[in-house]
Amino acid sequence: MGTGTAVQNWLRDAAQVFADHVGELNELDRAIGDADHGTNMFRGMETALTIPMDADMSPTDSLKRVGMALVSTIGGASGPLFGTFFLRVGQNWQTPATIDGVAVAVRSGLEGVMSRGKAAEGDKTMVDAIAPAVASLEDSVRKQLPLKEAMELGARAADEGARSTLNMIARRGRASYLGERSIGHLDPGAVSSALILASAARHIG
Ligand code: ADP
Ligand code: MG
Repeated sequence: MGTGTAVQNWLRDAAQVFADHVGELNELDRAIGDADHGTNMFRGMETALTIPMDADMSPTDSLKRVGMALVSTIGGASGPLFGTFFLRVGQNWQTPATIDGVAVAVRSGLEGVMSRGKAAEGDKTMVDAIAPAVASLEDSVRKQLPLKEAMELGARAADEGARSTLNMIARRGRASYLGERSIGHLDPGAVSSALILASAARHIG
């Protein structure tokens, strides 16, 4: 299977994952935000994928399609941030997909999110899931692990990172208004990031 098809399958799978998790993500956002995160992500992904993608569309173009849809359809803070993530990953995607190329692309996505949102690790945001995934992918580059295994380890690191937000104090975005009262709740954007990377691990490699 060509990498273009694999990336498209990833994006379609991710859209389905958000359709399945709308309620759960809205509930997470209800605790420390305004209860719209699941709806936001679902709407953005659905908009991107209502127009069928040509089988020969490049990974860069399909990732751009999703990134643009997230930027333009999500009103919340997460739209431009996840949009930037997908756009940057797409701009730096190399074909055929290799662990080195994927690590570079996902790092570039992380850097886009951090420069746009100004969040650092530990601020209880999506960065706390994406940054550990990048660190894991780069570790796998050093070990020259097979892509599939590297993707699975990266997804696991993102999941652990998302769970680590439970005891953090939010310092960015809407949740930061709660200060210490944000402790004891998972960050919805970090959970979404872990879902996106778990979906990637099922299709890339
Ligand atoms: P809004 O907060 O505008 O309602 P969403 O509910 O869709 O938007 O998204 C909230 C998520 O966005 C948070 O859980 C957090 O992960 C992420 N987020 C908010 N602000 C930032 C930021 N400055 N940097 C990185 N991520 C952020
Ligand atoms: Mg919200």
